[in-house]
Amino acid sequence: MHTLAARPVEFDLPASPAQAACPTTIGQAWARVPEPLPPGQRAALIERIRELLARERAVLVAHYYVDADLQELAEATGGCVGDSLEMARFGRDHPADTLVVAGVRFMGETAKILSPSKRILMPDLQATCSLDLGCPDDDFTAWCDAHPDRTVVVYANTSAAVKARADWVVTSSIALDVVANLHARGQRILWAPDRHLGSYVQRQTGADMLLWQGACVVHDEFKGVELELLRAEHPQARVLAHPESPQAVLAQADVVGSTTQLIDAARALDAGQFIVATDQGILHKMRAAAPGKQFIAAPTAGNSATCKSCAHCPWMAMNELAGLANVLEHGHNEITLDPELGRRAKLPIDRMLAFAEQRKQRVRASGDLARDTALYERVGPA
Ligand code: SF4
Repeated sequence: MHTLAARPVEFDLPASPAQAACPTTIGQAWARVPEPLPPGQRAALIERIRELLARERAVLVAHYYVDADLQELAEATGGCVGDSLEMARFGRDHPADTLVVAGVRFMGETAKILSPSKRILMPDLQATCSLDLGCPDDDFTAWCDAHPDRTVVVYANTSAAVKARADWVVTSSIALDVVANLHARGQRILWAPDRHLGSYVQRQTGADMLLWQGACVVHDEFKGVELELLRAEHPQARVLAHPESPQAVLAQADVVGSTTQLIDAARALDAGQFIVATDQGILHKMRAAAPGKQFIAAPTAGNSATCKSCAHCPWMAMNELAGLANVLEHGHNEITLDPELGRRAKLPIDRMLAFAEQRKQRVRASGDLARDTALYERVGPA
């Protein structure tokens, strides 16, 4: 393995989850820092991975935030690049018996939940997520038990055990619609784990929500004040923001949406310059989707800098060519999941997918195809 070092990463860990307000403490984690490869070795590894994917009859599914080489390999070999749910759905529907998931651990688990009979490999099983780390399943279960009258809605960035305790799993592309629907039916919500996404959904829907106080180490660091200064330098630029970002950033955004929705907006909007508040890994796909347009990373630095991530997820960065070749060569790093836990975790995912399909049919019947495409592209029935 090509490794320079392991770097420490601090993340928000709710300290008292049985309380409604959930004050946070700082958790400590680490992320491996991959070593850049010499050009000759890089090309050889890419070629070797192509051969191994064919030998193993495996398909590579990659997240938008991983290294550009892995994204290109996935697309060039018949795999896909997408958000976590698109990755899981693609893997489930693909005939390959082996899926290689380039992303973070909960994405491998979600792929296993939706495809229990398939072999799921990952370049690095230690690649995790601050939202997953910040929502331990025993504390989360205690919080749910303390609020039995509330409907439990969790974001996809959670462990299988947390999903198994939820009534609904949602992605950022469908969270607003699911919660608005539950609110219209008089239900009160327990939301976990991302506080910024939860707060955004709460403001947009007016739902009664108690929020777990987790945060993404990447999006939490975008700065509203520095964004204002950057916008003043680029007055023509449109701002694209992921809803895991703080309210001060979302308040300045022209488009708030999931990774796929932000890429679609970059392609569709009549603007030549964009400031992008999400992981910088997405810029590779945005540039391909909208050639000729300029993309500027939203600021995490400046007077109020913290820069735990500097707009690139330290765990997504652990996905590297050498690790990918290694797992394909030796069959290492397989995701395993207790079948009963997987079955329970699948129920709230299936509920979301069935909801998406129903809404899609309703919107199609109304003839509003633009809304249909914007909301549910690549989200289908389980
Ligand atoms: S970018 Fe944030 S939400 Fe995504 S995997 Fe990394 S820490 Fe988790």
